[in-house]
Amino acid sequence: MQALYYDGDLRLRDLPLPELKSDEVLIRVLLAGVCRTDLEVIRGYRAFRGIPGHEFVGLVAGPEDSPWLGRRVVGEINIACGACDLCLRGLSRYCRGRRVPGLRDRNGTFAEYLTLPAANLHQVPDNIAAEAAVFTEPLAAALAVTDAVPHLTQSRILVVGDGVLGLLCCSVLALQGSEVHLAGHYPEHLRLAEAYGASGFLERELPGGDYDVIVEASGSPSGLTLALERVRPQGTVVLKSTYKGQVALDTAALVVPEVRLMGSRCGPFPAALRLLARGWVDPRPLIARSFPLAQGVEAIEFARQPGVLRVLLDCQ
Ligand SMILES: [Zn+2]
Ligand SMILES: [Zn+2]
Repeated sequence: MQALYYDGDLRLRDLPLPELKSDEVLIRVLLAGVCRTDLEVIRGYRAFRGIPGHEFVGLVAGPEDSPWLGRRVVGEINIACGACDLCLRGLSRYCRGRRVPGLRDRNGTFAEYLTLPAANLHQVPDNIAAEAAVFTEPLAAALAVTDAVPHLTQSRILVVGDGVLGLLCCSVLALQGSEVHLAGHYPEHLRLAEAYGASGFLERELPGGDYDVIVEASGSPSGLTLALERVRPQGTVVLKSTYKGQVALDTAALVVPEVRLMGSRCGPFPAALRLLARGWVDPRPLIARSFPLAQGVEAIEFARQPGVLRVLLDCQ
């Protein structure tokens, strides 16, 4: 099969079909999404070697006796060991031996085929276009914010960062009826936020006043600085970004106003699929460009340019 392979260098390679373990299925990847985390992997920030990519929609192609055969699916990305103390306490999302396709000890989605445990799969309703279904994972990650913070409907919310995750956070938070502002850099992205029901502002033009809840999704430490400047006393900052290396943090900005800073990662796939199936969130305006897998190296170069939203790989 064809696949993009990273070993310090990114190349298109011809690799053997992956072998299946007893609880796994083989998936023919239809579309894969290139996310900022994947670009970090391909820069060598994460010590990952193998096939990158974790966002996909695909068709189950094997084994022949699988009840999933022929179904169109998306897949959760955490693969737990099932045996460590965290798994046994029901905290398998944080499993000590966790593998994640394209990110941690497991081949990912920038390939013609992928394997996943059947337990990770979710069937995609027929009325969701593949171009929308490929956003299930980041949309679920945006929904994680609504699970993590109480009383959102009565909150004035700021989302920092006008990339794909920030814009999807705007859409799910606005759907709850909250007042949502987005601070970004690209006027065309701010217009997308408006279409999702949020008010978009260039960072330097953000209106005055504190925010009850701030979601940091900019991927840049300056986003965290802005969040700590603008959150109200006893307010909440939800950190969706991971930063390269260490970040300088003025702890007085947390301690004195008694601000809650919380991390947030993966979210609920079934809820994301329901939002897509009902048409309440349409992520397709977030697609910058689609490339065939054979032009994967070019696709990654394109995705690296500033202000580019989601790049898709067509792996068929
Ligand atoms: Zn992602
Ligand atoms: Zn475990």
